[in-house]
Amino acid sequence: MQTQQRRTYQAVIGLEFHVHLATRTKMFCGCRVTYGEPPNTHTCPVCLGHPGALPVANERAIELGVMAGLALNCDVSERAVFARKNYFYPDLPKGYQISQFDEPICLGGHLDVPFGDETIRVGITRLHLEEDAAKNVHVGTSGRMHGSVGSLVDFNRGGTPLMEIVTEPDIPSPEAARATANHLKDILRAIGVSEADMEKGQLRCDANVSIRNPDGSFGTKTELKNMNSFRFVEKGIAAELQRQEEILAGGGRVEQTTLHYDPETDEVHELRSKEFAHDYRYFPEPDLLPLELSASYVGEIGERMPELPDAMRARFVERYGLSPYEAGVMVSDRELAAFYEEVASEADPKQASNWISGDFRALLNESGTGVSDSKVTPGHMVELIGLVGSGKVSRSAARTVLDVVFKTGERPSEVVEREGLGSVEADELDGVVDGVISSNPDEAERVRNGDKKVVGFLMGQVMKATRGNADGGRARELLLRKLGS
Ligand SMILES: [Zn+2]
Repeated sequence: MQTQQRRTYQAVIGLEFHVHLATRTKMFCGCRVTYGEPPNTHTCPVCLGHPGALPVANERAIELGVMAGLALNCDVSERAVFARKNYFYPDLPKGYQISQFDEPICLGGHLDVPFGDETIRVGITRLHLEEDAAKNVHVGTSGRMHGSVGSLVDFNRGGTPLMEIVTEPDIPSPEAARATANHLKDILRAIGVSEADMEKGQLRCDANVSIRNPDGSFGTKTELKNMNSFRFVEKGIAAELQRQEEILAGGGRVEQTTLHYDPETDEVHELRSKEFAHDYRYFPEPDLLPLELSASYVGEIGERMPELPDAMRARFVERYGLSPYEAGVMVSDRELAAFYEEVASEADPKQASNWISGDFRALLNESGTGVSDSKVTPGHMVELIGLVGSGKVSRSAARTVLDVVFKTGERPSEVVEREGLGSVEADELDGVVDGVISSNPDEAERVRNGDKKVVGFLMGQVMKATRGNADGGRARELLLRKLGS
């Protein structure tokens, strides 16, 4: 009964992202945006909320907001208004946050999220600019206020330019929510709007979660706050859906509330009931003029934008004959994609994809090296692929060559020569195969009688005799020819 009932439940998930914009300075003052520096070393009267200090909007932040809006297929507003969002909290020295309310910088839009073999279209409700609050540090606990002996405030983060992106409740599952967050990160990085590093708090995610009633009407939604890793986005939403399902299955009602996901217990906890939620009393910020975003200003920004991941993926599929998955791997890292394009312009594109997304990426990941810091150049990769293609090096020997080039930055042909990794020449291979056949007469006989399984054993002997330098395809062909099968 329970499983039957479960099947009638349908998850309804919407996400809200807070994204730190990649500006040098804060949203409304000239203080530098920093991470991990000593507390309260980057502050001024404006971001500390001293009386009479006047904010000035950061032009670059506005430009980055427009870029993000264009990348998410939004309508950029001709006029946007900054508003004061009033609430009282220690991380907010002015007693209000400068944000946008009923006239945000962008409205509407969508994000096409690759999800397995499908694409999920997630609507974008709005995108607006605001300033981040400061950071409370609760002393004597793992960071929570409960049980702490005191709280300190670090104002370095206060006033950092923040973009809020709100999606429609179009996301069907926790896994799809994770994919959505991940895809958004890729896009923001690709256009240089944000580093969007969740660990540094540059990308934070809230989720609105509800279960649609069997009659199709919407259920009560809860809000899951401040998830700070892609994995926790998925796990937190899954935990909350399960909690709601259990309440409904037990005949209870889901209460509208704000929750926090605890990864250690894999449970959600209530933060505060919405009944006590603040009435923010928004009103237009009198110290800032409305933003006028003309069509020509927006058009100019659009022209300067780099290629978006979706477009690049489609181009890689089209131009280089890669599968959407292969293209996706390449496009997820802009430097890797550029490296690939250089190699693919001079070598077989499919081989280039295999080597770069396989062995090369594994070496980068293992050593924690970025593409641009690696000693392997596109030229090296072209040469290596050429050596394998012409049969001068076997595939397995080429892997060893790549390992050495990765460490030393030598040319692949030099490594092959010095280490004696070249393929065994044709007559030499002929002799080796003869030798293997005569020293393994029983196995040879079985192959002659049609037992193909034993070919693998004989191949192993050939490889052993040549220290892995034989061209596998050629050795196999030779073996079979000599054994008449
Ligand atoms: Zn400042």
